[in-house]
Formats: sequence, structure tokens, C-alpha cells
Amino acid sequence: MDGDVKLKSSVGVIGAGIQGICISLCLINKGFKVMLIDRDDPGKESASYGNAGHFSPYASVPMNRPDILVDIPSMLLRSTGPLALKWNYVPKMIPWFIQFIRNCSKKKMMHTAKYMHQILNLALPAYDELFKDIDISELVESKGIIYFWTKNDLKSRELEINIRNELGVKQQLLTPHEIHDLEPHINKIYHGGVLYPYAKHTKNPRKVLLKLFDLFIKKGGLFERQNVKTISFTSNNQPVIKTDLNFYTFDKAVVACGAFSKKLTDQVDEKIPLDTERGYHVHFKGHDHLLSRPVIFLNRGFGITPMEQGLRVVGTVEFGGLDNPPSKKRIRNLVNGAKYLFPELGNHHDEWLGFRPTLPDFLPVIGPSKNYKNLFYSFGHHHLGWTLGAISGKILAGMIAKENTNLDLSPYNSLRFS
Ligand SMILES: Cc1cc2nc3c(=O)[nH]c(=O)nc-3n(C[C@H](O)[C@H](O)[C@H](O)COP(=O)(O)OP(=O)(O)OC[C@H]3O[C@@H](n4cnc5c(N)ncnc54)[C@H](O)[C@@H]3O)c2cc1C
Repeated sequence: MDGDVKLKSSVGVIGAGIQGICISLCLINKGFKVMLIDRDDPGKESASYGNAGHFSPYASVPMNRPDILVDIPSMLLRSTGPLALKWNYVPKMIPWFIQFIRNCSKKKMMHTAKYMHQILNLALPAYDELFKDIDISELVESKGIIYFWTKNDLKSRELEINIRNELGVKQQLLTPHEIHDLEPHINKIYHGGVLYPYAKHTKNPRKVLLKLFDLFIKKGGLFERQNVKTISFTSNNQPVIKTDLNFYTFDKAVVACGAFSKKLTDQVDEKIPLDTERGYHVHFKGHDHLLSRPVIFLNRGFGITPMEQGLRVVGTVEFGGLDNPPSKKRIRNLVNGAKYLFPELGNHHDEWLGFRPTLPDFLPVIGPSKNYKNLFYSFGHHHLGWTLGAISGKILAGMIAKENTNLDLSPYNSLRFS
């Protein structure tokens, strides 16, 4: 009986980033009829294309922390610092900042850490389930990820290490000597580090995304390249998605538009304080021999991942909204940072700006809409949306199929902002 109902149910998923594609695949695996809608080709320029490619199941320590709050002014003042503002956007972001500050207490930080840990812990097994049906052997590597830092940053590092220990996250502290043994070409500016040996990375996020997308189409999924303008509801609560070309009526709909999701949730009377942390990448081609696994230099808030396109230098956080142009200064910071670690690097290519979808408590929204029972959300995964693609898809598809779960999903509900 249940199976019959599922076969007839149709779901429209808006957004073909890693969230939307994983949700669509998980839904089709359960027998739903799924149409995925994106204004662009999947993985074209979205955050899911340009990220650092880390699968980071260890990364439970959030950014809403008492120590970060204290450090923000000095981070903003340092020209090589990890944080920047577009001043014209500051007035628009004040409500987000106020909520962020409220979430920086030790108690709130530990709440976020606990519930990020709950889903991060399941992130790799959830990908294993999706990857069973595609060949990712040339695209995903299991060499771990290294973070390193200088003496200037020790206090924050100690806090992170202690929280991870408290949560039971496995971590292997590294001496400078050990970092050098693992990655001998990095300029020896570091004083300490940590290795997460079980972490993975992809050499090409777009190719992984497209393999999952192709699998979705092979399984009978539909894709429409259209810009979604509005969501409304029929008299019996069925969602109607209006695009620039058409109207589609479904039994259920999902908003998975990353940092752009707020444009749609605002229309259905939800006050979800989603904003964006802008990030950048550049590539250095022809230097593959310099690095064998992703590294992150925490003092300057950027990392380098060996990718098919070359060394991808990626990171920094810029508060500046969705419409401001890219900042040349942020790109210059990334390039200078990379050359500080590898003085032999030449010219860079491919300057890219992307939008991390971020809520002020640094937990994603995964769950039903407050006002409409047939509308669901999956967005706001900030720095970890790539890692959390498959598990969010699995959780949301389970919710739509009305399956039971042992997980406590209430912390991800949008009701927390009511
Ligand atoms: C610099 C940087 C580095 C990162 N590194 C990592 C990392 O190493 N590991 C990690 O786990 N995470 C990382 N992240 C975070 C991760 O990339 C994001 O959290 C994740 O990609 C978000 O996925 P998404 O599917 O929610 O959104 P997106 O990838 O942004 O996709 C949203 C999609 O919705 C579509 N869309 C939007 N509005 C509409 C509309 N109205 N109609 C139709 N379509 C619409 C867009 O075209 C887009 O395709 C990084 C992010 C950045 C910016």
C-alpha cells in the first residue's frame, strides 16, 4: 500500500547543486517520480562546482564560537586575514550578525557541534551508498587532510582539539617534522598541525556531481533548465512551481538552492535568516608534484587541494551578499598565501567566486516548511555542504517517505527561527 502511494507521488526539486542532486537520487531510489529544476546546467558555476572538494566528516567544531567573536576585529584588520567585508552590504547583514553573536556562547557552540557531528558522522557511509552505482575510482582519493598553523593561533587550535576530543572525533596531532615528512614541499612556516587520516577529497567536484546527475537521469529522473520564480499551492496543498517558462504541480516540492534559497522561502512567509559567506578559488597549473593531499593553513583561512585542474587554492570568508562583484583583493590574498607556502608557483588561472549558504547558528535547515506540509528544505550547509550532500539527501528523502529514524532531526528544522 505504502509502496503504491510512493510510486504515484511526484516531487519537484529546485536546485541541481550537490544537495538537490543527492536528494533527487535518494527520492528516485525510493520510487518517487522526480523532476529536478535548475536555472543552469548542473554544477556549472555553483558552490558545488568550485569548492575545495573535501569530504570532512571530522569538521564538527563550528564558526559560532566565543573565541572567534573576540578575534573578528583583528581578523578584519589584518590584510592577510581570513575574513573580509563588503562595506556596502554591512547594513543589510546586521540582523544576521546579531543572531550570529547570540549563537557564539559556549552552550550554543556545543549545541551546533553536537548536531553537526550527528550528521557528519554518517556523511561518508551515505556517499558510499550513492557511489555504489558509479565509478569514482579516478575522482575520489583517501589520503587524509592536513591542517596546520603557526604559534600565533594556538589558543583557538587548543579549543578545537578539545571539542573534537569531547565529541570522540578521531584526530592525529602532527609535529612540524611530521608535517614535513608528509608534505615535504611546503615552506616550513608552521608550528603544529593535525591530520584526519580517514578524510577524503575529490579531484574534480563537478565530475562527481555530473556522475550522480547522470545516474539520476538513467534511473528515470527528469531535468528542466529553467529559472524558478515562485512557489504557490493548490487548494489541496499541492505545490505549484512557476518558472520563467512553465507551471508544474507536484505532490511535494523541495527547495535546495544553496545561498539563493531565501529568495524562495521569503515568498512562503518564512523568516529564515539565510545569508552567504563568499569564498574564492584560483588554480595553479603544472605543479602537481608539490602536494599529495589537501592542506589548510588556518591562520590565513585558505587551503590547497590537488585537483585535475591543477592546485586549487581555495577559501577566505567574505560577507558581501549575492550581488556584489568579486573582490580582486581577496583573490590577491589567496595567490599571495599560496606563494607563501610554495614560493616556486607562477601565474594563476580561473578566478572563481562562490556562495556558501550560511545560517547564523551554523546548522543547516533540513526538513519541512513551517507553513506548508508538502514543501521541504535542504540548504544552509555553509562550509560543509559538499561533505553533507548524500546524508542530507538520505535524511530528506526519508522524511518525505515518512520513514522512522533514530536521529534527532529537530535541531535542523526551520521552526527554530520562528
Ligand atoms: C570556496 C568554497 C569552498 C568550499 N569547500 C568545501 C569543502 O571542501 N567541503 C565541503 O563539504 N563544502 C565546501 N564548501 C561548501 C559547499 O560547496 C556548499 O555548502 C555546497 O556546495 C552547497 O550546495 P547546494 O546544493 O546547497 O548549493 P549550490 O551548489 O549553490 O547549488 C544551488 C543550485 O540552485 C540553483 N538555483 C538557485 N536559485 C534558483 C532558482 N530560482 N531557480 C532554479 N535554480 C536555482 C543554482 O543554479 C545552483 O545550481 C565550500 C564552499 C565554498 C564557496
